Amino acid sequence: MMVYEYDDIMFAVDCGLMFPEDDMPGVDIVIPDITYLLERAEKMQGFILTHGHEDHIGAIPYVLQQLNVPVYGTRLTLGLVKNKLQEHHLVEQADLRLIGADSHLQFGPLELDFVHLCHSIPDAVGILLRTPAGNIVHTSDFKFDHHPVDGRLTDEEKLKTWGAEGVRMLLSDSTNSEVLGFTPSEQELEQALDEIIRDAPGRVILATFASNISRIQQVINVAQRHNRLVGVTGRSMINNTRMAIELGYLKPPPDGLLTPDQMNYLPPERVVIICTGSQGEPTSALVRMSRGQYRHVRIGKGDTVIISATPIPGNEKMIHRTLDNLFRLGADIYYDELFDVHVSGHGSREDQKKMIELIRPDYFIPIHGEYRQLVLHARLAREMGVPEENILVIEDGQVVEMAPDWVFLAEKVSSGRVFIDGLGVGDIGSVVLRDRRQLARDGFLVVTIGLDEETGDVILGPEILSRGFVYMAESETLIEEAKEIIWDVLETQESAEAVAAHVHSALADFCYRTTRRRPMILPLVVEI
Ligand SMILES: [Zn+2]
Ligand SMILES: [Zn+2]
Repeated sequence: MMVYEYDDIMFAVDCGLMFPEDDMPGVDIVIPDITYLLERAEKMQGFILTHGHEDHIGAIPYVLQQLNVPVYGTRLTLGLVKNKLQEHHLVEQADLRLIGADSHLQFGPLELDFVHLCHSIPDAVGILLRTPAGNIVHTSDFKFDHHPVDGRLTDEEKLKTWGAEGVRMLLSDSTNSEVLGFTPSEQELEQALDEIIRDAPGRVILATFASNISRIQQVINVAQRHNRLVGVTGRSMINNTRMAIELGYLKPPPDGLLTPDQMNYLPPERVVIICTGSQGEPTSALVRMSRGQYRHVRIGKGDTVIISATPIPGNEKMIHRTLDNLFRLGADIYYDELFDVHVSGHGSREDQKKMIELIRPDYFIPIHGEYRQLVLHARLAREMGVPEENILVIEDGQVVEMAPDWVFLAEKVSSGRVFIDGLGVGDIGSVVLRDRRQLARDGFLVVTIGLDEETGDVILGPEILSRGFVYMAESETLIEEAKEIIWDVLETQESAEAVAAHVHSALADFCYRTTRRRPMILPLVVEI
């Protein structure tokens, strides 16, 4: 999410979610912290969404609950947002406003124009923001694809016109700054899919992102050429496909899509199934198929499985586990590490250079990407002639101030991540996560002690209960020794608080000394 602010006007570009990393046990998704926006809610004009990918729209349902402002997006983007809002029962309250590549928006003195960009989803736009301090171009995700699936090219003419008008600052997509050359066209991918599907002996099952409408279209095209019928499965895949067909972004096969029953009973060599699960998401269709837990599709010998997506960093383990399970079932498997069954939606270094060449900005900020990718993109801009002192590599929360005569890095503002677990939004902080990690690693130990309210004598316990630390039945000596240590504490301490604190530290030492483990220790000392 990027926030633009001028006097009493403010708007945000995109509002995405992240998937949890290994050290966030139990967290479902991660969304941006919008404290800064909430503190300035009266200035907020809305969210402008550049395209319909999760990392650009995924947090909208959570954020609108706290800050209900207009949401601007193209037709397909808003269609995808609407599907999400429906799941959260929020469609009625939301103020969704349609824009297109030719739209013009005005917020006070700020004017916005848009440009069509190619990406792995149709209907993506970049933004030109005209401000009294100069023009800013925010590309969002893009590539220069000369054969996109929907035939709509990146509008180079318009980008060039913007460049000619004079652009003070360019913010551009850095995701593929480690990749040489131009990103291959979607058309090359279609040829690869064509060969695999043509030669497949039986059923073909292809997993990709539910938002990858272009890929779904390609599979439908290829299937038709080889006289196969197509079915889609997985809840988000079904919803998105239906919506994209309704809005005209997806041309369905002439015979319509297969029902779950047909997927099963048609001869296998007539069937292609498109499903979710390319990231190994535990509840997705492909993962359930790989475990033999999917009622409608049982994978076996003779089936061909294609995973048409690159792993999002952090998801590799889940994907590899799914691949192993699919191999166990005896299917033929095509995936990114071995075959060209996916092309990136992000421009590589040559695409990035071309963008800088068209826009010819005074200042440059690399966006979208991990730190090293930002730095590599920054160096590329330097090579392209942007002066070193005019290139700003910034991270979350960093404010850049721009005036007609200067640009500088201002103070950082509150930013960060909010964790979502089940129904809870933001009620899990770093402390809860640390506890979960400790529990997962070394388990816990509960000590119960009852003290007489009047005399301070021990009238209950000490009792020790543990889970995930040691197997209690076989650790009698250890537990007895621990009790000895607790008795030692009880002899020297009187108040319940003091007993609890000393039991905690004495047991922590003891556990580490005897087992080299650090279980969570919870002393419950009550005065009765
Ligand atoms: Zn994207
Ligand atoms: Zn993105």
